[in-house]
Amino acid sequence: MTILVSFLLAGFFAIRRTDDNTNQIAYSELERASKHIADLIELVGPNDQKSVLSDYSQSSEMSFNIYNENIDKTYGHMNKKSRFSEAEKKAMLTVINGKKTTNTSSLVAYAKTYEIEGIRYVISVQRDNTLKKSTFVTSYIVSGLILLLVGSVVFLIISDFIVKPISNLTKATNELIKGNYRVRVNYAGEDEISKLYNAFNQMAIQLAKQEETRQQFISDVSHEFQTPLTAISGFANILKSENLPDDQRKKYASIISSNSQRLSTLSKNMLQLTLLEGEDTKLDIHEYSLIDQLNRVIETQDYTALSKDIEIEFIKPKGEIFVEADESRMEQVWINLINNAIKYTEEHGVVTVEVKRWGKDISVLIHDTGIGMSEETISHIFERFYRDDKSRAVEGNGLGLSIVSRIIALHGFKIDVTSEEDAGSVFTVKMPLSTKSYVNKLIVNRKD
Ligand code: ADP
Repeated sequence: MTILVSFLLAGFFAIRRTDDNTNQIAYSELERASKHIADLIELVGPNDQKSVLSDYSQSSEMSFNIYNENIDKTYGHMNKKSRFSEAEKKAMLTVINGKKTTNTSSLVAYAKTYEIEGIRYVISVQRDNTLKKSTFVTSYIVSGLILLLVGSVVFLIISDFIVKPISNLTKATNELIKGNYRVRVNYAGEDEISKLYNAFNQMAIQLAKQEETRQQFISDVSHEFQTPLTAISGFANILKSENLPDDQRKKYASIISSNSQRLSTLSKNMLQLTLLEGEDTKLDIHEYSLIDQLNRVIETQDYTALSKDIEIEFIKPKGEIFVEADESRMEQVWINLINNAIKYTEEHGVVTVEVKRWGKDISVLIHDTGIGMSEETISHIFERFYRDDKSRAVEGNGLGLSIVSRIIALHGFKIDVTSEEDAGSVFTVKMPLSTKSYVNKLIVNRKD
């Protein structure tokens, strides 16, 4: 459309300009012709004048009029529209070298006064310009049509290049909206479209992964809920029978109670993990004594350890150790790790909590002499609901280490695991010393 409008505008101005140009050229040609006619009048005598001038008119295909007080003779056909009037020609006779021009849409005429052998003549010459103009207009229209044709072909090719990849992408996006996450788009090229296609494919891969995780999560959750619920409803039904011995009644009631407890822990852990995985999770960071915190946690876990005759050792460096972290969340980390160490260690084993200082960093190592883990198990332990087959005999829901790893990641700390099957495991958490305790330590070292 833009091309067409520009072309029409250009054509309009070009035709106008060509009009002016062709008229200008025509006037100078006509002036030369009138000069030639004047020369002929001067050369030939009055007797031969008529025949020479009519020969010239025929051979040059030109119409002209010779005028003075005695003559008003036209050679060829002078069109009325552009013919000079008697009065005009008379007026011109009074001026030496007087000139006059006129034009209609297709005719141009030129008149000039000549003095030949003491007699003044007005010689007017006329020319038909239609052919020249129509030739120009025709060539202009032809080139316009060619331009339009070439432009349309080029436009179709370009639109095929641009529109086709975009419509492919629209189709693929609609597939994605319908839930088909396996849809992919292919594009051979290295331009912006190929970047867009790659981004789309990455998005589809990511959505497919998320969908898989979501489905897995729902199936894990329903499975984890189903086991205790089945136990609860089963034993509740048995409890309905009236002639049940007292000891069995108590036993079944305690099974119901422990399974309810299991459900409660599961939902609390799920809630905690969901909160930790929220995008706007905030940490309440402040400086506190790490040794005091670990002492408190070990005390709370001592009772469980004692029930299995497990000893908890605490190895710590001299002096105070301060860290900057979210105290209550880090307490959860130590509880989960020490609790696991006790859970997965046989009776009479040893759990060691060791604090080591490495320059500006602190490492807390939780060793146990428990069942240990294979390489394969280690690679999955931080996944939600993952439980090694060996550990199924022990109570748990597979969320404890997911919570630990999320809290560690939120702080920007590090956690490592080494383990040997049937020998034990070591979980190591690495975190920076608080600036205050690092500077204090430097001062103490200098004094020493
Ligand atoms: P849970 O202990 O409730 O099963 P966790 O997320 O805390 O869930 O642990 C996931 C799995 O990692 C456990 O089921 C167990 O297989 C393994 N695991 C964790 N800690 C230890 C450990 N100290 N020794 C051996 N295996 C462990």
